[in-house]
Amino acid sequence: KPVVGFIGLGQMGRPMASNLFNKTAANRAGFVVFDVFDGAVADFTKTHDGAVRASSPADVAAQADVVITMLPSSPHVSSVYEQMAPAVRKGALLIDSSTIDPATARRVAKSVLDKVDAVDAPVSGGVGGATAGTLTFMVGGTKPAFDRANPWLQAMGKSIVHCGDNGNGQVAKICNNMLLGSTMAAAAETMNLGVKMGMDPKLLAQIINTSSGRCWSTDTYNPVPGVMANVPSSRDFEGGFAVPLMQKDMGLALSAAQDVKASVPMAAAADQLYKNILATPGLEKKDFSVVYEWLSGLFVRFVRKP
Ligand code: NAD
Repeated sequence: KPVVGFIGLGQMGRPMASNLFNKTAANRAGFVVFDVFDGAVADFTKTHDGAVRASSPADVAAQADVVITMLPSSPHVSSVYEQMAPAVRKGALLIDSSTIDPATARRVAKSVLDKVDAVDAPVSGGVGGATAGTLTFMVGGTKPAFDRANPWLQAMGKSIVHCGDNGNGQVAKICNNMLLGSTMAAAAETMNLGVKMGMDPKLLAQIINTSSGRCWSTDTYNPVPGVMANVPSSRDFEGGFAVPLMQKDMGLALSAAQDVKASVPMAAAADQLYKNILATPGLEKKDFSVVYEWLSGLFVRFVRKP
């Protein structure tokens, strides 16, 4: 039976690793974890009996036959793959679920493909989907590598889609997130307009959610505090999908669009909003739905004093 490794126990990685740990107990010989933040590893090993702390990405690669990485961005993935490459077990399977640029995904896969199977498998569904084990995985890699990754991804997600060769999972992901960044900004400005004109936000959301303006940003992750329970807007925009990660994804999409000469004016406007939020001390780590507070002017309650 294979040993499973997980690197990156953050907002997404922790619940994903938890589902993988719990649902694959019968199919694996061991479970090793690593994160540069020691507290995340300590918390995971304490709450998952049998999970073992590894000392580095190379240590994970040396022990594990299946390695999942869930890291912030392209430089982190490049660095972790550089550390893993000399240590990987021949015939292992590497799955990167971080959202990174397609070119880096192709490059890191190529760096290990002579020894192992490697796929990019970014996700959509947020922390809620990661916790419930209902994520969508967009997978780039050969069909045999996809088939091999599939049962492990099933433990963390509901919809596992083969998008083509290495890098194509990331292409699907950045297209989805470019749209998400734009729809969240559009939902925020719409809700703000309604509220400013005297409409009850809960009622407005209810109407939109049974009308043609409905989208994920209005019906599952509404950005107005008090409209929905259990979303970041109901807890001061803590947790969830942080602004720097959303702005990173908008940047990935805008730069890819420039490469292929695709026109993306809506995304460019939304990107500017997230950049402004990022430059505001006190907002820079909030969930991206804080764009509502930014547009409504209410954000001043979060601004850090110099
Ligand atoms: P996060 O910042 O909460 O977690 C990243 C984790 O990686 C942290 O625990 C960090 O300590 C660790 N890390 C950083 N560098 C490392 C290294 N060199 N070695 C080992 N560990 C390292 O981020 P997240 O929200 O979990 O997102 C992870 C990825 O998933 C990102 O690419 C993001 O764009 C994507 N994503 C996030 C969401 C979401 O809702 N949060 C949804 C879909 C996709």
